[in-house]
Amino acid sequence: MNKRVKIGIDLGATRVKIGVVNQAGRILCRREVDTPFNVKPAELVSSLVVNIGDILRQAGLKKGQIAGVGIGVPGPVDSEKGIVRYFPNIKGWENVALKSILERRLRLKVSLDNDVNAMTMAEHRFGAGKAAKNLVCLTLGTGVGGGIIINGGIYRGSTMCAGEIGHVPINEKGPRCNCRGIACIERYIGNRYVLNGARKIFGKSITLERLDRLAKSGNRKAAGIWADVGTKLGVALAGVVNLLNPDMIIVGGGVSKAGELILRPLRKEIKRHAMIDQARHVKVVRAKLGTDAGIIGASLLA
Ligand SMILES: [Zn+2]
Repeated sequence: MNKRVKIGIDLGATRVKIGVVNQAGRILCRREVDTPFNVKPAELVSSLVVNIGDILRQAGLKKGQIAGVGIGVPGPVDSEKGIVRYFPNIKGWENVALKSILERRLRLKVSLDNDVNAMTMAEHRFGAGKAAKNLVCLTLGTGVGGGIIINGGIYRGSTMCAGEIGHVPINEKGPRCNCRGIACIERYIGNRYVLNGARKIFGKSITLERLDRLAKSGNRKAAGIWADVGTKLGVALAGVVNLLNPDMIIVGGGVSKAGELILRPLRKEIKRHAMIDQARHVKVVRAKLGTDAGIIGASLLA
């Protein structure tokens, strides 16, 4: 039988999503479980083995029908060797050879990459970036992540750390970032900092959902907060546009739900700051695949 389906695993710091994905990028069957707090490598591997067995039974498939398993993980990896370097939000993972450990347990071929690269591949192949040869994909959430496609393939950089758009500085001076950098864009527009700013403006704590609803119903203070996110991000992206001359910038992640409230000022700043040809060519759009991008992209790694 032809091996046409793959398993995609989107490993998040709070949830693990597993899907059986076909060649057209459709999720045929899925499972979702909590990621135990600070899960240990051995514990995670055992849970994955059990859940993959379950999902295969659920889909009526045998191991022999699976072409491979891909995993997108929330942290830096050596994708060639299949090693997790560390996870910023899960303690106790340092240089874990996740690929070879899982291959031994599953007796299936396993591939590994970070989750933003996986999402970028999914949007490029099946989502908003289908027409693009060169693109940059962003996720806006707690952190600001980025993936880069150049000439149709992921650009990884010399030590596989490329794409850290969240840590592009936008000022000479400014707040210190978790990465040790100064005035990184993430330090201004990561969820926590947006909500801190919102608390000052509204004089009380507010959730992202509430902020989003207020902005969409025409509240000017709330809309102003999103406009500020778009403006700051636009400044950082103008540099990216000049440097890489991409066809497209795809904006995804939870905060991107604000849609045009962020994208309009973002496009305006790119026009204002970037060089004429690059600025005219680049399209800035929202991601299409939503939270499924993680599973679909992980399956593309396999
Ligand atoms: Zn930083």
